[in-house]
Amino acid sequence: MKKSGILGYPLGHSISPYFQNAAFINLGIEATYEAWPVDPVQLPKRIQALREPDVMGANVTIPYKELVIPLLDKIDDWALKIGSVNTIVNQSGILVGYNTDATGFLRAISEYGNYEPSGKDVLLIGAGGAARAAAHAFMESKVNTLWIANRTYDRAKRLADEFLENGKVKPIGLDDPEFRKSASSVSLIVNSTSLGMKHTLDSHIDPLEGFSIENSTLINDMVYNPLDTPMLINAKNRGVRTLSGLPMLVLQGAASFELWTSKQAPVDVMFSSARKALIAQSD
Ligand code: NAP
Repeated sequence: MKKSGILGYPLGHSISPYFQNAAFINLGIEATYEAWPVDPVQLPKRIQALREPDVMGANVTIPYKELVIPLLDKIDDWALKIGSVNTIVNQSGILVGYNTDATGFLRAISEYGNYEPSGKDVLLIGAGGAARAAAHAFMESKVNTLWIANRTYDRAKRLADEFLENGKVKPIGLDDPEFRKSASSVSLIVNSTSLGMKHTLDSHIDPLEGFSIENSTLINDMVYNPLDTPMLINAKNRGVRTLSGLPMLVLQGAASFELWTSKQAPVDVMFSSARKALIAQSD
């Protein structure tokens, strides 16, 4: 039996084991996907153990996406550019790091949001790890203008400064009047902060509360638990198009699955399993 799993600390209620195991079963692959909570002191030893022949690889989540980089043998170009690894593949004892968050994000907004960012003006709320993946995905897709609105302005500025075409990337603070203005002029708004996330103090917050937004604008929340965050509920009530964080989660996982198995991931099976797991957790 081959093994894979998710490395993080703490791991909370990760739903990745549900949909990854459902995919293995669906394709008749003899493998398991486990939750691997690892405390920071044990990280180097845990990474070393991924070289064992029965291990296919691992996903990596908070707080290790950057910290694992020096512990790996090779880093794929996308992961190097973004500066974070969410997937490790064990290639006969050689550990290779990838980032499937950016590709999963692009595929989610395209296939499930019917949105192509090329030439468009977009607003990204947040400047943390998930925002870095999205910002690189947007710039790679040649957006016209990328607004990055973050509570800590300096972090948004640092992210904007990573891009050579930084005239196209506009960092702003959440208190800046430009935040409200940009929200009413862009065709896509993505929340990549933890605002609205279940089991947090900010679970009730909609970062776009009281904003005026065109009905044709797509509003995407990277938060996937709950499926309907306050931001998405309010947008739907105003007749604005929405996309939850679940497609990105499942599609980044599907891309990891394909790197480990070299087989096409059964995305529909993964979706329905992920939905069931979220619904079961909400009971
Ligand atoms: P992170 O690196 O810790 O970044 C957190 C971001 O949230 C920062 O921009 C932070 O602003 C902002 N923030 C936190 N509390 C806030 C508050 N009270 N008011 C305003 N802004 C606040 O985390 P991450 O890895 O980027 O993850 C962010 C979210 O994306 C999480 O909810 C995660 O579950 C979700 N995510 C989803 C997927 C998916 O596949 N759907 C993938 C990755 C992440 P400051 O810089 O000011 O602290």
